[in-house]
Amino acid sequence: MRFIDTHCHLDGEEFRDDLEAVVARAQEAGVGAIGIPCIDLASCDTVLAMCRRYPGYCHPMLGLHPEEVKEDWQHVLEQIKPRLSDPQVIAIGEVGLDFYWSREFEQAQLDAFEEQVKWSVEFQLPLMIHCRKAQNELVAILKRYKDDLPGGVFHCFTGNETEARQLLEFDNFVLGIGGVLTFKKSHLPKVLPAVVPLDRIVLETDAPYMAPVPMRGKRNESAFIRHIITRLAEAYGVSEEKICRQTNENVQKVFGIQI
Ligand SMILES: [Zn+2]
Repeated sequence: MRFIDTHCHLDGEEFRDDLEAVVARAQEAGVGAIGIPCIDLASCDTVLAMCRRYPGYCHPMLGLHPEEVKEDWQHVLEQIKPRLSDPQVIAIGEVGLDFYWSREFEQAQLDAFEEQVKWSVEFQLPLMIHCRKAQNELVAILKRYKDDLPGGVFHCFTGNETEARQLLEFDNFVLGIGGVLTFKKSHLPKVLPAVVPLDRIVLETDAPYMAPVPMRGKRNESAFIRHIITRLAEAYGVSEEKICRQTNENVQKVFGIQI
């Protein structure tokens, strides 16, 4: 079985000491490709460098994370934008809105997100979207560009049936499903099969965060995606092979990556 981790912060300092071992374990476990999102200007360069080390295996996504949007966001975006012409880049991300921790930069977050949505249209690169406590605001912005967007991922989806339906109204967008699915109190094993067809799901770890059960609390890594596949297969009542085959196909459709 081979599969794809669409969202992993492999450039993080958590992996600095044993990066090669982490990548080797991922390859051994069946991870055929890894998508690596940026969060700020500095990480755009670390992510591009890391992906050059593992060409064709690690794939960069460039963007400004909503939690990193500060008063200088316009200046930061001006510097990130030229880097999008690097042929390795597969997506704009991770970008979006996060009103969970703070609303201090609410207007700046809205403006920075909209600007990067415009990049998605201009470069025809899919979006890797982070959204927390802001779905209505996020959907309002995306709707303005709906017909021109190439697609993308609503990463770390944890919402209810209504929220899932609302997001799936965007063509060529899929939900990123990771460790939260395996948590004891998660409603996702019910919500997903009820309203989300399997051709609208991709796998992700969000490593080093969000480790799935039974690794919860540990540093997450791409190899742990197997636990998500097992739980997803149970929830949908299909084989693990089917989950892998379908999600690989979905990744190919959204990002053009084939394994
Ligand atoms: Zn992330």
